[in-house]
Amino acid sequence: MTNKQLEFIRSTLIKKKEDLLNSSRHAFKQMMENDQRPSDEGDYAVEEVNQYLTCTIQTRDRKCLLEIEKAFKRMEDGEYGCCESCGEQISFERLKVQPFCSLCVDCMQDIELEQKRLA
Ligand SMILES: [Zn+2]
Repeated sequence: MTNKQLEFIRSTLIKKKEDLLNSSRHAFKQMMENDQRPSDEGDYAVEEVNQYLTCTIQTRDRKCLLEIEKAFKRMEDGEYGCCESCGEQISFERLKVQPFCSLCVDCMQDIELEQKRLA
């Protein structure tokens, strides 16, 4: 992968990170605005569901942010774009679509086949 390609991925990840932080802030703000004491049992259930949804979204975002940080770390270490399993270069086309992927197509397929076999 060329430096130019790496910079492209890096800027994609920075943008993605900003988007995630913005939507997390937005979700948090909404949660605060909706944070009213439930008036009866019925409302309480709805409140619980809403809180659950908010938590789920934030957990997913947190996971995603973690993946982005991991990708930045791999870039710093010069390991970004190498398959974690076999060490082969992952194609730029693949990284462009899935910037977090740390496995090449072959290794990913092996894992997917294995998962299907065990399912
Ligand atoms: Zn591999």
